[in-house]
Amino acid sequence: MKRLLAILAQRCPVCLQGPVFRSLLAMYKSCPHCGVLYEREHGYFLNAMFIGYAAGFLLLVPSAFYLFWINASIPFFAVIIILETLLLWPLIFRYSRVLWMHMDQVLDPRGGEDRETRRQEDKKIG
Ligand SMILES: [Zn+2]
Repeated sequence: MKRLLAILAQRCPVCLQGPVFRSLLAMYKSCPHCGVLYEREHGYFLNAMFIGYAAGFLLLVPSAFYLFWINASIPFFAVIIILETLLLWPLIFRYSRVLWMHMDQVLDPRGGEDRETRRQEDKKIG
């Protein structure tokens, strides 16, 4: 429940407190509250793109079906779908990233102890 509220409020996946975005589209590099790095590795947000595609599809398909059902002309259809996409994409962009970070945190948790384990593993290798 706490996580669900943190996702809705677009908060840090680790502490559920710090904000993820500092403006409409710009993210913090790390959590202002707990300091955890949001981008765990290069290409980390690639998976958020897939969530974004799925979300965009789910949001636009009902409108497309409706426009088809009312027999909208092709230009009208295109304008409505393009306008809807432009209005929704900041929302989709933000929530797909936040959702991906929270999914990743649930599936592969990280925290203080995780960092300690990694440091010990680095010592073994080095
Ligand atoms: Zn945090």
